[in-house]
Formats: sequence, structure tokens, C-alpha cells
Amino acid sequence: MIIGLIYVGETRQRLNFRMNDHRSNVNDPNNNKFLYKHFNQPDHSIVSMKVRIIEKIYHLTNDPILSTPYRLQREDFWIRELGTAIPYGCNDKIDDVGILSSPRCSTVNTLKLFNTSARRNRSHGHRKYIPPAVHTVTIDSLLTSVQKPLGIHHIRTKLYSIPLSKLSLLFQDAKNTSVTDSRSVLYRLVAIIMDIANHRLFKPVLTTSNSEEKRYFFKVEFANKGLDAVNIGNIFHQKSVQKTIPDYFKNKATPIISYTYTKSIASKIFNHKRVLEAFNLKDTKSKPPDCSCASSQYNYSPAGHIITGDLGIVTNEQLRELLAKGPKYRIPQPINWKKNFKLLMDAVEDYARKWIKREPDEPDLDTLSEWIKAIRSCIQRRIQKLRCNMSTRVSNPFKNPEVVDALSSLHDKYVVVPADKASNNIVFICKNIICNVSLQSLKLIKLLVILHIL
Ligand SMILES: [Zn+2]
Repeated sequence: MIIGLIYVGETRQRLNFRMNDHRSNVNDPNNNKFLYKHFNQPDHSIVSMKVRIIEKIYHLTNDPILSTPYRLQREDFWIRELGTAIPYGCNDKIDDVGILSSPRCSTVNTLKLFNTSARRNRSHGHRKYIPPAVHTVTIDSLLTSVQKPLGIHHIRTKLYSIPLSKLSLLFQDAKNTSVTDSRSVLYRLVAIIMDIANHRLFKPVLTTSNSEEKRYFFKVEFANKGLDAVNIGNIFHQKSVQKTIPDYFKNKATPIISYTYTKSIASKIFNHKRVLEAFNLKDTKSKPPDCSCASSQYNYSPAGHIITGDLGIVTNEQLRELLAKGPKYRIPQPINWKKNFKLLMDAVEDYARKWIKREPDEPDLDTLSEWIKAIRSCIQRRIQKLRCNMSTRVSNPFKNPEVVDALSSLHDKYVVVPADKASNNIVFICKNIICNVSLQSLKLIKLLVILHIL
């Protein structure tokens, strides 16, 4: 069992030699190192010092000097892993942070330095009802724990689980406690309360660090719905991808995905422009097109001909269903994974090329090669999965000759125009009407069509 405070240290010496050093340092009244001062408190002595090896490091050459960088790295790891930094333990010097007990580190939140491990998954079993705990935590009640076995650990757990309101009260108490002897137990407890309170109560407001960074568009053709299923936007956020961006890059914001879409069915269903372009007033006047509007239920009596937005006029069921989806509808394209992969990778490379140019010192495109590779393997993995799960087949009504015939006979009889720019409606006008308009108004209609008003 671990009792009291832990200090993690590395040495290339034999352990007993290193321990001899520690002992003589404790006995040296002039040694001001935090660790040694600790053993000179009342009720403390060398006798209460226990040692344990947590890791042995070997080097190929068997030369301990050569393994020093790695040893130091492991020392730092264990300090963070076991949470032995001041005030939770006795390690005062932390890599990349400094001497914790020095005034320079007064704002360091020690708890943040420690490694966190993900909470263990709960089983799916039934949980017993546990009545809400009554939290009566005071500085005095905690004080008795500090020097008990695993005391620091219990204090940490307790302070981490009490409601924030209680922690806040405790924090106020700790702030009002006047304790100056840095070696005392109370001093340590107050330091721990302040540290955990700082960690839990004053969490920095979560802002995505990229929020101020300018984001750029990642343009890719929306070839089919398989392309969207790859979810390239998510790939840009993957850790494995993000970590390949060189550290010195200034723009690290993930791009905004922008799809360019294939044509809607509008160009296939509307024929008003074509009709007007090919329209010859003289020929048409001399030989007006046949029409049977008079007997039709869609006849618009003031005009004497069919002018209707009613899709019932379309006899082919498949075509009617298609038109009901409106002119903005796009025919789904069959999924082509090879094409999707190429489109995405082309877009990734294109984005990388532009990205490099935005960087202040215009690095070589090679600096992003790992990024491109990481994305590529993500895309490949996803496509491999999607291949099995997504049906590649879609039906294209325009590939059905009956639909094509039905549409072309509609075009023969009617001018098919959008009801207005914004709405998704279609209007059928008997071609015969155009014969009755004057040349002047025809010019006007043509102008309106050119101006996209009709
Ligand atoms: Zn007619």
C-alpha cells in the first residue's frame, strides 16, 4: 500500500547509491530542495522513506548515459501518471513547466499536468439505488485524511466528486485560511483545495481554437450520394489527419466542404427557351399546331386553350412522379466508388496546393504529403466499408424510353415553363396560344424569357 507522499525520481546509478545521496541530502540542513525539506518536518524522518522500482530501462549498448534522455522522459511520464507533483506529491520540478514551488509557477494548475485516463465503461447490468451522498466536507474533516494511507488520493477523489456549490464554499474557506508554513499539512491541504477548485470551478470557456482562424472552401463535385457518405469533413477533423499538419503551419483550420452539384432536371423539362428560339411567327400563323384544348378538362376558358399547373395532364405515371419533385430535383447518380475516390483525392490535392500558397513562407507541397496520405488512407478505409453497405444502383427515369417519349410529346404540344423563379411549380401552356400573339408581344415575351422573368 502506498502511504503518504510519493516522489518519482530517475537515476542511472545503482539504487542503493542513489538512496545514499537522498539520505545525505536530507541530513544536510542547507539543502533547500522541496523533497529534503519535507523530511525535516516534525514527525518526519529518513526512517519513513520507502523506495520502490517502477521501471527499469535498458539501452542496447548497456551504457546508462546513452539512455538518459529516455529515462528523463519516463520520469516525467510517471510523475504525470501517478500524480506526484506538488502539492499532491513531492515532485517539484516538471518538464516544460518549471519549479512548482517557485513564485513563477504560482498560477500553474497542477491537476492539469496529470495524465487522465478514460473512465472505465460501466457494465450493462442493473445498478443498485444509491441514496444521494451527504457532502459534509470541511477543511478540518479533510485535514485528518492528509496523512492517512492513500489520504491524498481520497481527498482528490472527494474534491472531484462533491457538488460545485460545496467546492465553492470550501474554496472560500481555503482562501481565508492563513497558513504560511509551507511544510505544514494544512498548507498542503489548502494548496490541493485551491488547485482542484481552480480546475473545476474556473474552467476556461470552451472556444474552438479555430474560431478566429479563417476557413477556406474545399470544393468537390457531388457526383453521387456515396461521395457524401464518405464524410470528408469528418476526415479533416480526425486526429490521425490533424497530427500530420506541420507544427509551424499558420493556417490549421479545417476547410468548409462545398459541393458543386450536377444539373437539376430543369433543363430537361422546360422547353420555353427552345420553343421561342425556334419560333417562326409567319410559318406558325399559316399552319397553327393541332390542339384539342377545347375538350380538355385543363382548358383555361379565358384563353380558350390549356394553361395549367396541374400535373394530372401528364399521363405517364413515372414522368408525373418525376415532375412532382419539381424542376430543382436532381436525378440520383449511380455510386461509382472509383470516381468518388478520384474526385475526393483531386480535391484534396487541389486544396493542399492552395493551402501551401496561403502559408507565409510558402513551404514545399511535400510538407503536406503526410497529410494527404493520412486522408487518403481514411478515405480508402471508409470506401471499403461503404462498398459493402451501400447499393450502387439507382434508377434514372430518363433512361426509360417511355418517359422520354412522354416528355417529348408534352414538349410537342405545350410550352413548359416555370411558374415563377422561386417556386418549384411547372406550367403547361398550349403552343397554339403563341400563334395568337402579335409580333410585338412575342418580342416582349422573348425579352422576358431572356431576362429570366418568365
Ligand atoms: Zn390549344
